[in-house]
Amino acid sequence: MLNKSIKELSSLLNKKQISSVDLVNETYSQIEKFDSKLHSFITVKDKSVTLKEAEEKDKNRKSDSSVVFGLPFAVKDAYVTKDLRTTAGSKLLENFNSPYNATVVEKIIKAGGILIGKNNMDNWGHGASNENTNYEIPHNPWDMERITGGSSGGSAVSVSTRMVPFAVGEDTGGSIRNPSSMCNISGLKVTYGRVSRYGAIAYASSLDTVGPMAKSVEDLSYLLEIMAGHDDHDATSSRLPVEKYSQYLGDSIKGEIIGLPKEFLEKGLDPEIKKTVLTATKVFEKLGAKIIEVSLPHFIYGISIYYLIALSETSSNLGRYDSFRYGDKRELFSNETVRRILLGTYALSSGYADKLYKKAQKLRTILIQEYDQALKKCDVLLSPVTPSLPSKIGEMISDPLKNLLEDLYTGTVNLVGAPALVIPAGFSENNLPIGLQIVGKKFGEGELFQLGYSYQQETDWHKKLPIILK
Ligand code: GLN
Repeated sequence: MLNKSIKELSSLLNKKQISSVDLVNETYSQIEKFDSKLHSFITVKDKSVTLKEAEEKDKNRKSDSSVVFGLPFAVKDAYVTKDLRTTAGSKLLENFNSPYNATVVEKIIKAGGILIGKNNMDNWGHGASNENTNYEIPHNPWDMERITGGSSGGSAVSVSTRMVPFAVGEDTGGSIRNPSSMCNISGLKVTYGRVSRYGAIAYASSLDTVGPMAKSVEDLSYLLEIMAGHDDHDATSSRLPVEKYSQYLGDSIKGEIIGLPKEFLEKGLDPEIKKTVLTATKVFEKLGAKIIEVSLPHFIYGISIYYLIALSETSSNLGRYDSFRYGDKRELFSNETVRRILLGTYALSSGYADKLYKKAQKLRTILIQEYDQALKKCDVLLSPVTPSLPSKIGEMISDPLKNLLEDLYTGTVNLVGAPALVIPAGFSENNLPIGLQIVGKKFGEGELFQLGYSYQQETDWHKKLPIILK
């Protein structure tokens, strides 16, 4: 059942052909079958409690209930939850229980979603492989020896293996997009401010975004309708009205202009990923879109700018876990996190702030202008997600620079604040998933859904299941 779309599940529930109790049972049976090997969850809620919730949902279902009413779901362990501990992937918060739910969690629960558990992640969101977790390292269901991508790796695995119909991820520099691509699911990084960050454990506050991860673009569009909107608890959340995103599904993409930044296909990109992006352009052309070349001359500085800003902000945000205010013991910060705090503190210290932090901020403005310019010539940008295929577990952790480079195509989008959709677009010769990124104009999520949905009507990459399920 959990292989069906959110809309299908909701309609079967309405017709009483299935029940929420069935769905919750299936969720736990998938978790029991696979998660001792895959480690997509850090904490799973007690089954007797969620089954009770499901019974309630079955009783109280109305014909106009939300599409997620009675559906199980998971959230990255970066969001605080009242009933379950929140670790942010770190031992430092191993015993932390929040007195309230993050806004996004609260919204989904209010709409009738049943929270099943908290997904594995890199400590504080620090990483692109999910190996920087203090819990078991999650494994990629397409190849058990490989990484899931990160930092929302656990969420990607739980959707990819149909443990839950959808999950909530967090994306500061690629953390929703990178694991979505590596585990063959669809994921959305929203425009900065589209979804409230209240209750999200802060990594880098000017870059953090909250977004859905699911099996298809269609599912993502329904989820964003529930998750988006202004929140009095988050001053950076936008007051723009939330659109009916699902209305964009099925709109023709004839005449859409898709820009392909020439810098994206230059050095550093795996040839199989490059080929996949180029093949995807043909699909869009067939659907009536036009592909043009654009340029982002400062793109090559993107990673340096991203890490200067992200690490400066994280050094400030993590100051609160000094074990006087929050957190067990600060010795429990991982090596990677200590490295990031040190670099960030250095970039902000007097004498260096002008040369490093301020310069990065100026370059951030230039990047914003360049993206704006490019998006005047076209409607969206097409891009790879990561420069390389999922590596073997252990390879990246010994090569921190490679880990940082994974954000080459995603990190700049967070600097700019734009939305970006990731959809499955093919496989490498050794059967590893390859995703495609479509970057839109600010608050242009609807157009991304329109394009992504058309692509998924034409292709069936997103329907392919990992070997482990066969
Ligand atoms: N890999 C990036 C980093 O470590 C992005 C992480 C994220 O989006 N949370 O900063």
